[in-house]
Amino acid sequence: MNDTAAKETFSFQTEVGQLLDIVAGSLYSNREIFLRELISNASDACDKRRYEALSDPSLLEGGQDFEITLDVNKKAKTLSVSDNGIGMSHPDLLETLGTIAKSGTGAFLNALKDGEKGDLGLIGQFGVGFYSSFMVAESVEVLTRKAGEKKSWRWASDGKGEFTIEAAERETAGTTVTLHLKKDAKEFLEEERVRHIVRTYSDHISFPVKLGEDNLNSASAIWKRVPKEVTEEQHTEFYHHTAHAFDKPWLTLHNRNEGVVSYTNLLYVPSSPPFDLFEPDRKSHVKLYVNRVFITDDTKGLLPPYLRFLRGVVDSEDLSLNVSREMLQTDPKLTKIRTGLTKKVITELKKKATKAAEEYAEFWSNFGSVLKEGLVEDVDLRDRLLEICRFTSTQGDGLISLTDYIERCKEGQDVIYYIAGDDLNKIKQSPHLEGFKAKGIEVLLLSDHVDEFWLQHIPEFEGKQFKSVTRGSADLDQIKGDDKSDDKKDDEQSPSLDDLIAAIKIELGDAVKDVRPSKRLTDSPVCLIADDGDIDMNMERLLKRHGQLDGGMPRVLELNPDHGIIQKLAERAKAEKASADELLQDVAHLLLDQARIADGELPLNASEFNRRLNTVVGHAL
Ligand code: ADP
Ligand code: MG
Repeated sequence: MNDTAAKETFSFQTEVGQLLDIVAGSLYSNREIFLRELISNASDACDKRRYEALSDPSLLEGGQDFEITLDVNKKAKTLSVSDNGIGMSHPDLLETLGTIAKSGTGAFLNALKDGEKGDLGLIGQFGVGFYSSFMVAESVEVLTRKAGEKKSWRWASDGKGEFTIEAAERETAGTTVTLHLKKDAKEFLEEERVRHIVRTYSDHISFPVKLGEDNLNSASAIWKRVPKEVTEEQHTEFYHHTAHAFDKPWLTLHNRNEGVVSYTNLLYVPSSPPFDLFEPDRKSHVKLYVNRVFITDDTKGLLPPYLRFLRGVVDSEDLSLNVSREMLQTDPKLTKIRTGLTKKVITELKKKATKAAEEYAEFWSNFGSVLKEGLVEDVDLRDRLLEICRFTSTQGDGLISLTDYIERCKEGQDVIYYIAGDDLNKIKQSPHLEGFKAKGIEVLLLSDHVDEFWLQHIPEFEGKQFKSVTRGSADLDQIKGDDKSDDKKDDEQSPSLDDLIAAIKIELGDAVKDVRPSKRLTDSPVCLIADDGDIDMNMERLLKRHGQLDGGMPRVLELNPDHGIIQKLAERAKAEKASADELLQDVAHLLLDQARIADGELPLNASEFNRRLNTVVGHAL
């Protein structure tokens, strides 16, 4: 025998190998999902061939009906899934089944390690569903021929580190995946069991799924049905298929839209965030169909990137089947659809936000930071987007809208105060908030990375400017707050800080831009702020992190005139010859470093900081 000569052996890429070890060794109880994955791949393959044939009709080999055929062979103990879809070439096989790890491979391994999220049933979500066959099969064969090519190939593996590819015979284009079932997986040789699995997981597949002469599924496009007649279960199942997801849809939008351009949308908002939400390509995953023919699931232009959390299908009979995907992107009809869909989605979100605030809070924690990208990118709909934005604030744990904020503004308050930073818990503790808290003035806590960016584009809301509490003068006296100590403070004359300020300025030199008495502090002795017109502190941190800024700008050091330490220091500065007072000099630096630490930064010079701290402690002992 000489057929080994033509057989090539390959090793699985490392991560794929690890994945297979886990899959093959698992005792996962819902193993039947392998069939869902294989049928889903067969359906994708039929979609692809139908699409490719639009521009090259020869690929259809003379008109053909697409179908997926299941076959059980009790004697050979095999179950196979055949399709007459696009098929795979030799390079396709190498690329998709083993030598290259898809981006989802590592993500799936991590999810499995992280016991809470880890569930083998999620395998399809990570784009590696094919490998689930090894849960039930001791070996798998793939016999395939790509449409338009003459050569056929057999891919085979027992999932233990290697696979082989050899030339083979297949009469027509398409793919047959044959599973040699494990001893404990004989149940999948029972026709009744197979029927049941297909009805449970794959009823919505729009090509017939056949076992012998029988059609196992309804094979109609669910989005073309009358919306009221589609049940919640059917939606969930279809959503699972089309989104490769396994949560429930948080929101379903199923509409038929008639107009200059008519289309149907069946869109889902997931109830948990997909793993690739923040990948740099910000790809949309909604599938575009033209009159039930699948075109692409990567249509730029169908939906704006800030709605990329949406899943589902858009089908329009008014788009032309005969243009390329690239041309489609700039088709004015597609633009019309995009505008219509975007407005529809925002309107539905707004309904939820007003009628079901708690549910909306879940959506917001999943996708709020994505939606906020639209504040920068979609000038036309900016105001409508702002209406559905929600924020945390210093008042209460719930989410508020900007309208809520404006309603709760104090008399005389003509700006919207906010503090921005990476970490919500840290910014909550910031000394900059002390004076605001004491007066009961609400401050928005902005901890999403996009917040700084939309703030650059939206200077005000309903006539009130956005203003960072870490920036510029904060004249809280003008605002009528609930601070009980207000009147008391005016009577008690705080000691003059002039001498102390002069001494600190001399000592710190260029390290600070200015030193001033503060109105925003109640408990802390000092804080750093950005001067009016200077770049805000959090923005500076972001720019530095992205390498767009080298050194920082010197900040203004504010002193709390009511703080015991500052008052004592003021006395001392008045009495002594301050320029020769070494203790005062050390303390000046320590105050600056203390303010930096409160902002989450390091002291300017760690060893000097330690030396000074020790000296000052030494004095006190
Ligand atoms: P996904 O379907 O998410 O891409 P899978 O692991 O299920 O991930 O499949 C991997 C790839 O293998 C597919 O993207 C496709 O390119 C190829 N493939 C699998 N099954 C078939 C099939 N029946 N026909 C053609 N290609 C297939
Ligand atoms: Mg798949």
